[in-house]
Amino acid sequence: MCDKMLIAKLRIIRRRRLLSFAGVPIAFACIGAFAFLFEHSALITIFPILGTCWFIGSGFTWLIHSLSICPSCNNFFFLRGLYGNVFSWKCLNCGLPLNYLAVSKHSDCGQDDKAA
Ligand SMILES: [Zn+2]
Repeated sequence: MCDKMLIAKLRIIRRRRLLSFAGVPIAFACIGAFAFLFEHSALITIFPILGTCWFIGSGFTWLIHSLSICPSCNNFFFLRGLYGNVFSWKCLNCGLPLNYLAVSKHSDCGQDDKAA
């Protein structure tokens, strides 16, 4: 059975994961480089504003990522009760893998449909 909505929602969770794991450190490095380059200029006064925006944005990104809803069981994907693990590749409630299409044994959609 192929569920394209399930795969699409898992893709959204993977994008949120990529944004929080890669986007937040990249933004931090860019702000740090900005502060280093304009250390002795008047533009350094904008650094606290950028830092505050980065802090709020990274917290919001992590919150959105950690509160993702599993498309299969409709519980939180990375939370189970009081336990949470945002690094997990499986839903902590039902065990649905984040790369469902890659590990699916019965893939009757995707590349198999194109080959048939
Ligand atoms: Zn689940």
